[in-house]
Amino acid sequence: MTTASAQGKINLVFQVGALSNGYHEVRSVYQAIDLAETVTVRESNSWEIEVHGEVPNLELVPRDESNIVVRAAVELARSAGITNPQPMKFTIQKRIPVAGGMAGGSADAAAALVALNEHWCLGKSDAELAEVGAKLGADVPFALLGGTALGTGSGTQLTKLSDNPTLHILLIFSEFALSTKDVFQAFDSIRPAGDELAADLEENYSNRIGENSLLPAALKLRPDLKSVLELDLGIQGGFLSGSGPTVWFSTPDHAVVEQAQQRARSLGYRSVLTQTSSLGARLS
Ligand code: ATP
Repeated sequence: MTTASAQGKINLVFQVGALSNGYHEVRSVYQAIDLAETVTVRESNSWEIEVHGEVPNLELVPRDESNIVVRAAVELARSAGITNPQPMKFTIQKRIPVAGGMAGGSADAAAALVALNEHWCLGKSDAELAEVGAKLGADVPFALLGGTALGTGSGTQLTKLSDNPTLHILLIFSEFALSTKDVFQAFDSIRPAGDELAADLEENYSNRIGENSLLPAALKLRPDLKSVLELDLGIQGGFLSGSGPTVWFSTPDHAVVEQAQQRARSLGYRSVLTQTSSLGARLS
């Protein structure tokens, strides 16, 4: 039995360009947060998925071979020349809302890759795991790397950025899910040519914190998100995380974020306090 974990993320900035060759070119500053998914792998007679956690939309997580952790196992085995891999049972502890715009599935895939690389004694390097991860989803390489990074291309080409001072983050969860695919489709209908991608994002992203090209598309699908985004909690925000619907607020001050959470609670919102993290996927 082997266990690994990987952090969820927010996008400090998320710019989406035009659709080309089947994917949108993006320019994104990814930030890992201190909410981690944990994946335990053990040998089994068939591929099995067990999911635990108290997060919105847990029922949407596939319990069959379509789960991204099984796809990760098959792809990792293939990269090692194994065509008939040992079936595994995966126990996933979820802390990241499902279909919440925080790359929970990608974190599960990253943790599964790290756990299986160890369990199957494959000896793949970080760069080799990232290559496998990029085949599974645009956010998987970042879930492996963690910390703060600039993502270009489809989001898989990463440049590690220096860690910022800790930011305390208040996440407002939504009970509804937003499919990333649906949000991108809505984006295409609103902005068929895409948004302009800033050439200097790496140096100047601190002036653009919270910018997210997908915001009008998410609002088109869920106009009720507006009231969450406009909440006055006395801290910076609210900003849409990835394709939503999770909304985040931030402050460097822990006492201030706690007050903001109390206010959100008194207004009836489901919230979680976390902070920025410098960690990537790792064995636990
Ligand atoms: P992103 O921010 O990367 O676009 P997300 O955080 O919005 O993703 P996920 O939680 O990764 O969304 O899940 C998206 C969909 O992927 C789910 O609705 C589900 O059908 C499918 N899925 C497959 N495997 C998993 C998994 N292990 N955990 C969550 N969802 C999974």
